[in-house]
Amino acid sequence: MSRQTRRTRREAPPADARNLSAKDLWSQVLKRLSEHPNATLQDPDYDPEPDRQKLRIAMRDAGWTDDQIDSLLQAQEERIAAAPSTSPGVAPHAEFIFGKLCDDVEAAMTRLGMDSHGRVARGIEPRLGPWAAKTNVIMTDESIVTVGAQLFRFCGVVARAFTRTVMLDPTAWESANYRPEDGVRRIRSRPDLLKYWLQIYLSYAVTGMHVLVPFRPSSPFEAILFEQVARAMELFATAHEFGHHHLDHGRAIDVTAARREEYEADQFALRICREIEKQPVLLENPYLSSGAGGLILLRAMRMLGRFEAKLDGVAERVTAHWETIDLGPTRGRSGPLA
Ligand SMILES: [Zn+2]
Repeated sequence: MSRQTRRTRREAPPADARNLSAKDLWSQVLKRLSEHPNATLQDPDYDPEPDRQKLRIAMRDAGWTDDQIDSLLQAQEERIAAAPSTSPGVAPHAEFIFGKLCDDVEAAMTRLGMDSHGRVARGIEPRLGPWAAKTNVIMTDESIVTVGAQLFRFCGVVARAFTRTVMLDPTAWESANYRPEDGVRRIRSRPDLLKYWLQIYLSYAVTGMHVLVPFRPSSPFEAILFEQVARAMELFATAHEFGHHHLDHGRAIDVTAARREEYEADQFALRICREIEKQPVLLENPYLSSGAGGLILLRAMRMLGRFEAKLDGVAERVTAHWETIDLGPTRGRSGPLA
């Protein structure tokens, strides 16, 4: 019996009410996650001014003018004011980024003749680590697509390190004579960059956050490439989870099916990224249309996994608390880009 026919088909509810069970379940899950002592929630008394000053100084050091910094800070404030609220308590900036990514993915799905995204609720998990997940809502064909509150910062620092690595010698990486050992030699010639990469993986492996990574914003020269890489990584992660939902994944229990589903979700994400790139924002983004952004993210996740395995004893102490949370049988999948 096929996976589709095994499920009981229900009468379709009205279009504007097709994700109510998913929204309801998400509010229950969020409540439990938010009660956890390690929950990455924004402090209700958070004062943004000191961070704004730090950002101003770091951007001046990176080569931005005061006028440019002012307009960037203003745009950031407008984004925060306009952010949706799927997950009260998490940083509104993550809400804004995720809302925009989901809107882009859903618009591409609509253009491709799909409508399954009407049965998806969105959420930001207040958990450590660069997560993305799809959760099935039991007894329905609805899902919750979530990202961890730290995912976008992870994509940001990896995209920045990647941009700086590419710019060591922009033409060499694509040269017909390129050899991996030349790439390694090139990176080793810049101890500050090597240290930056190490700080990223060590920080996320040990703390699940970016706290050990120095804040070094992009320079005006790096900004476009950085934005392209980060956006391609973030869209791939989001589209991958929508793929699990659209393809009705996460209901089989055997390992072979799980591997096949990961492959299918990656293929779905590539298709969506290509479709999004048919309507480019300002400039064409080859990292999106080619799927390179997804590859950078998957490689970075794999590298983080290696660091976590090496630092198992250390990381365990930080993340052990999460093991005690029972998300119940409705939890379809969880884990970094599950
Ligand atoms: Zn997956």
